[in-house]
Amino acid sequence: MMKQWMTLLLAMTLLVSLLPSAMAEEAVSTLYVKKVENLPEDFIFGMDVSSVLAEERSGVIYRDFDGSEADLFRVLADNGINYIRVRVWNDPYDAQGRGFGGGNCDTAAAVEMGRRATANGMKLLVDFHYSDFWADPGKQMVPRSWKGMDIETKTEAVYQFTRDCLLQMKDAGVDVGMVQVGNETNGRLCGERTWFNIQYLMQAGARATREVYPGALVALHFANPEKEGSYATYAGKMAYYNVDYDVFATSYYPYWHGSLDNLSRVLTEIAETYGKKVMVVETSYAFTPEDSDFSGNTIGEGGGIVKDYPFTVQGQANCIRNITETVVNRTGGAGIGVVYWEGAWITVGGQSWEENHEKWEAFGSGWASSYAAVYDPDDAGRYYGGSAVDNQAMFDAQGRPLESLKVFSLMRTGNDIPPVADALEEVTLICDLNAPLRLPQTVNAVMTDDSRAAVPVQWHLSAAEESRMHTSGPAQYDVIGTTGGMTAHCYVSMVEYNYLTDYSFEEGGVGWEITDLKNADELYVEDKSTDSLTGTRHMHFWSARKDSVEFTVEQTVRDLPAGKYRFTVSIMGGDAGDTDIYAYVKLDGQIVGTAPMRITSYGNWDTTTVPAFDYQPGHTVAVGVYVKCQGAGNGAWGKIDDALLNSVQE
Ligand code: CA
Repeated sequence: MMKQWMTLLLAMTLLVSLLPSAMAEEAVSTLYVKKVENLPEDFIFGMDVSSVLAEERSGVIYRDFDGSEADLFRVLADNGINYIRVRVWNDPYDAQGRGFGGGNCDTAAAVEMGRRATANGMKLLVDFHYSDFWADPGKQMVPRSWKGMDIETKTEAVYQFTRDCLLQMKDAGVDVGMVQVGNETNGRLCGERTWFNIQYLMQAGARATREVYPGALVALHFANPEKEGSYATYAGKMAYYNVDYDVFATSYYPYWHGSLDNLSRVLTEIAETYGKKVMVVETSYAFTPEDSDFSGNTIGEGGGIVKDYPFTVQGQANCIRNITETVVNRTGGAGIGVVYWEGAWITVGGQSWEENHEKWEAFGSGWASSYAAVYDPDDAGRYYGGSAVDNQAMFDAQGRPLESLKVFSLMRTGNDIPPVADALEEVTLICDLNAPLRLPQTVNAVMTDDSRAAVPVQWHLSAAEESRMHTSGPAQYDVIGTTGGMTAHCYVSMVEYNYLTDYSFEEGGVGWEITDLKNADELYVEDKSTDSLTGTRHMHFWSARKDSVEFTVEQTVRDLPAGKYRFTVSIMGGDAGDTDIYAYVKLDGQIVGTAPMRITSYGNWDTTTVPAFDYQPGHTVAVGVYVKCQGAGNGAWGKIDDALLNSVQE
């Protein structure tokens, strides 16, 4: 029940309402942008477009803000992007020459993208994965042709590969500004798992970069800044091994990677301790919860995520703006850039999964093709498909730029237009089945400047519907309302309110009093999910000696509203011999109701309800379980869990 509710809640949380844009036509943009102060002229605003060649081969057409067909690189350059980032895989093809997907980003593809970046006045950030396919914290597979190499040979291979790729770029006249040696290398790289070996590979990549592009910055790239102490460890290892690099770069996906305060703290610490430049080299944010290419998205369809901004075009822009603000002004002056990840990886345009699948397979425009199975059978080989980030792109499904693409230019000047409502925050409410439903009179609008404003809301719920909510037992409802042309949601969970504290012993038995009458060997709250009815904890007892189990576990409750109540509790156990076990209710110290309970064998929970009782304010209620066992075998044992004190409808 709770789980279904959470799933529903999370799914619905992603539904946000868009306002029709109604700004004056002469405005620069309908996008609200707060200026980022102290933004250096040469601050890096990057876009990773690694999938673009495959997208174009698949028939995707990009457009400019006038709606005309345009070169993606031109559109980006015209909107404040000055760096293009591309990943390089060693050999993302099978023996028949069929691409693994994800843009089939080998050296030739990277050179071509670099050439186009340079032609449009942008620098290139080369992102070496040193793998035949995706490398990330969970996956750093060695390229097939390097398999089995000892570290010395592999180090030479990294050097030669890096050098060869960069020389090809140099020959093509590519303006390489930065080279990233490894991708999200959290303690793994190219099949190596020790820093001792990893540092050799990093040194080799750095050495090749210095030789071919002496003016380029060398970056190392890590992920998960939210993991306490991890970045200090990585930077410490790099210093210990004297790895030659300029930039400590991080991924920062707001859903998973902690707060901006934390990001500021960890990057500042590294900048100050080791004198390194820092940057966010990958980030993105959803402008819609909707998928557009029939291939499921990473974000937007449920899951345990932190949502700081609404999934709107404005929310996406505000997210980028605030990350930039953090890198520019909250890293001790060491922040040099922010790179958006795959802002142009949109749907290939088919009207079904099958239609798109054909293109993903043929052109490598999905995140993985089925051909990747020869290299990565367990992940890509099973879950191949399209773009998992089409709802985080900065272009819509027709290839038109979103207004948020203007944020990069507008951060320099600000676009301080009057804020308007952009989305509504969802409201959640837990309501006792026997208490009146009190829907809020206002809901919070998320304004375009990311502030909140309470707005009055009209809920659409008839008296008959409300009445049914109270008589249909525990259930979840989405109550719809309207305000200013937008739809509001109040997610109501009708519950049987439980008046007990720590009813499932998850807090260790807070509020419960244990009276041990025969000194049992074990009698305490145990943390063991397999023995719990719900959660991970329960009241546990065991005693080896005959007739050594006799106790009560009891909770006292005061100040209930006047009314009728019932007490329910569950038990399981075994080896008990003769028993006398019952749940009870006391009023002012006198037992007013009991219900017998039985323990039989492991996993057989006996749930018992004591007949309902009347309560008037001023009296004291105690509910509990009395347990007495003679014991058999290795001694009586049992588990008590999930005590409920609910009001009863008259
Ligand atoms: Ca998708």
